[in-house]
Formats: sequence, structure tokens, C-alpha cells
Amino acid sequence: MKAFLSVLFLIAVFFSSVASGENLKLYLPFTYPGSLGKFELNRPVEESKVVIGYGGKRYTFKGEKGAKEVFFVIPYGVQKGVFSLSLYENGRRKFFKLERVRPKHYRVSKIWVKTRPLKGELLQRVIREGRLLRRILHQVTPKKFHEDKLYPPLKKLSISTPFGAKRIINGKKRSIHWGTDFRAKRGTPVFASLSGKVVLARRLYFTGNTVVIDHGLGIHTLYAHLSKITVREGQRVRAGQVIGKVGSTGRSTGPHLHFGFYVEGERVDPMIVMKEKL
Ligand SMILES: [Zn+2]
Repeated sequence: MKAFLSVLFLIAVFFSSVASGENLKLYLPFTYPGSLGKFELNRPVEESKVVIGYGGKRYTFKGEKGAKEVFFVIPYGVQKGVFSLSLYENGRRKFFKLERVRPKHYRVSKIWVKTRPLKGELLQRVIREGRLLRRILHQVTPKKFHEDKLYPPLKKLSISTPFGAKRIINGKKRSIHWGTDFRAKRGTPVFASLSGKVVLARRLYFTGNTVVIDHGLGIHTLYAHLSKITVREGQRVRAGQVIGKVGSTGRSTGPHLHFGFYVEGERVDPMIVMKEKL
């Protein structure tokens, strides 16, 4: 196994040196599960995609047609060892590299909430909303932001539950926390983190009053459990604009902001993105 890996590394070194001649820039400051990465191309490319290979699985991030940058994520499922990173331009592989993922420790938390059994009309609603969210989060549209850093969604950021935490709900159901929870009082203003277009502003069963903003290039941010939404679907917003107020709607144990960051539906650790230049 060890010898096999070293051979893979040698191949990777060879391909990286090939890629450098192509004038490509790769930004990947962190290699934790949930880290954000970006390729900068030296010219607009008709069809580009980034593929992450890990344990026989392929995760594909397609670029926006004619864009000069392609964002991707080290998926949460990539937990240890080595993954491959490839960039394709018009069907041809232009870059290949092997990277080692930096393991992260995730906290296990137990929460107790009142739940109704999911059946009948309620189950149908949850399935419908899940489909709607998936469809929205996978959309890749032209770039809508010019900022190179995230605007914090709250004036004061105090984390209560980090990204990736494993949850035991009512003593049994385990789920993974796909965002960052920030403590805040009910009514605290919530800001858009990047400029974009509001693509969802409505009440959902699990996330309560929810806003999703499309920033283009496959990037979306999600703001959940709001007491009040102050934007409407289809509206353009700029980074730092108030989009709603902190609350505890949906399945929630008290007022807080749940903040999610996605690239083509793949979950990103918002706190890693906060430290990065976009
Ligand atoms: Zn949360």
C-alpha cells in the first residue's frame, strides 16, 4: 500500500509540473473536509469541471460556461488519506494532483427537541422541501459577487455548534450538522455574506424561516431559523445588506442563526471560508 502511494505521489508531481506550464492557478489554503478551493484559468473556458476522486467515488463540480474561475469543495466524506484533484477544460484533463486531507475532529452533541413522527402529509412536505433545496443548491449561474471576502452574517460571531458536529437527536437519530450555529438574541439583524440573488425566502419545516442566496458559480449561502425574513425571492442583495432577523423557527432549541455555505450542493465549513480570500 505504501509503495503504491509513493508511486501515485510521483505521478502527481509529474502532472503538477505539467500543469504549471498551463498558467493555471490553484487556491487551496486548507485541505480539511469541508474546505473551499478554486482554480483560476488564464482565459474563459467554454466547459470546465473539477473532479475530486476518493475511495472509488467521484465528486464533480462543473464550472459556469465561459467563466475564468471554478470553485470546488473537499467533500465532508473525504476524511483521511489521499484524494485526487483534476481539472478538465473542454473534456481534456489539464491538471492532476494528489493531496492529503487534514483530518478534523468532530464533536458529538446530544439535543432534545419536540418532534412529530414524520408521516402522511408532513412526510410529503419534508420530502418536497428537501427536493426543492437540493435543486436550488445545485444550480450554477453567472458570478454575482465582487467581494473577495465573506461579510460576517452577524455583527458578533460566537459559535454554539460547529460545522460537521455529529448529533444525537432525542437519544437516537444521528445526523451531521451541515452549517455553523451562532448564538444571538431574537431580533438580531442577519446580513447577506456576499452579493447575489435571493432564490428562496420562505418557511420550511426543519429550517424554519429560511433564506438562500445564489452568488453564482455554484455558490449559495443559507440562513435558517429566522424570526423574520426581510427580502423576497428574486431580489438582488449586496453583501452586508439585512435579509432578516435571528429567531428560533423550525426545528430549533432556541434563538440562533444557522449559517450554511454550499458549492453545487456540497457542504462547506463556513468558518474555513471566513479565513479565506474568495
Ligand atoms: Zn444549525
